[in-house]
Amino acid sequence: MGNEFLDQGVFKVTMRELYSQGDVVLSFEVFPPKTPQGLEAVYRTVEELKSYKPGFISVTYGAGGSTQSQTLDIIHQIARRFELPTTAHFTIVGSTLDAIDSFLSQAHEVGANNIMALRGDPPAGEKSFKPVEGGLRYAVELVEVIRSKHPHFGIGVAGYPETHQEAKSPEDDLANLKRKVEAGADAVFTQLFYDNEDFLRFRDRCNKLGINKPIVPGLLPVLSLAQVKRITSLCGSKLPSQLLSALEACGEDTAAQQQVGIDHCISQCEGLLSEGIPGIHYYVLNRADSTREILSKLFPAN
Ligand SMILES: Cc1cc2nc3c(=O)[nH]c(=O)nc-3n(C[C@H](O)[C@H](O)[C@H](O)COP(=O)(O)OP(=O)(O)OC[C@H]3O[C@@H](n4cnc5c(N)ncnc54)[C@H](O)[C@@H]3O)c2cc1C
Repeated sequence: MGNEFLDQGVFKVTMRELYSQGDVVLSFEVFPPKTPQGLEAVYRTVEELKSYKPGFISVTYGAGGSTQSQTLDIIHQIARRFELPTTAHFTIVGSTLDAIDSFLSQAHEVGANNIMALRGDPPAGEKSFKPVEGGLRYAVELVEVIRSKHPHFGIGVAGYPETHQEAKSPEDDLANLKRKVEAGADAVFTQLFYDNEDFLRFRDRCNKLGINKPIVPGLLPVLSLAQVKRITSLCGSKLPSQLLSALEACGEDTAAQQQVGIDHCISQCEGLLSEGIPGIHYYVLNRADSTREILSKLFPAN
């Protein structure tokens, strides 16, 4: 089956072309929610952010199973309703090679321009990642499958400024990233971080190793102290002491905490833009308010 969107130019632009055009590319990441109201929030978020002309909207792939088919449904709706380029995240958790192939074919049918090629985390309760029989072990193998069997997609991969939690060493983790890029990834999207120095050190080390694809910082504006503590403890990113103190000084006032998060993110973005980054990938968590305030400060013309 073909792709109903291919005659529209916007759906031919993959990450490959996007980051070679010279402009700073903004991208927004949403996740498949569990309720119909949650789904409306996803589309409202895209509606409220589309004036910033995102290079793509990316939709995560749920590790738990129940929301997995929703990734492609949401991609389809975003392509149809908003005529925006999209990136479908996909993880190899629990998928055989046939299931992987089928997901990739469907992603093409619903109009996805790119795939975010990920390994995924071990299912809850399991300590280490175990591939299914007939499945893959590392994200690099997924990049290889996409390049050989679905070459029309742009491919994004994950990078870790503060090193992936399971990596034996920062050097091993960077060697893995290099393999993913050599296998055909078009761009690297980082795990969230709150200290620009971590990103800049990581980018330098990538450059020295010859990882010569765009390295796009991933930023999550803090919404509240409780939320950022939970997220950073899950993904292993650190919460700088100054940011922590500013959040704690807000006491129970979550609106004030959100404003601290917005101000911190604006200053991160300004610092990163002055360092010549190719784009910014915002983890918007299905709400546009913080990201809009940040962008209205950075790009007042929109
Ligand atoms: C931008 C971004 C988007 C994400 N989106 C999602 C999503 O939609 N859904 C989701 O479930 N998760 C998502 N994640 C989380 C991601 O799935 C986890 O971080 C996961 O634990 C690792 O995935 P990976 O693709 O980086 O794995 P890999 O690149 O395969 O690396 C996994 C680990 O194995 C190590 N490794 C790799 N190769 C070797 C080797 N040959 N020998 C020994 N060790 C090796 C690496 O150093 C690393 O520690 C996202 C992360 C990022 C940064």
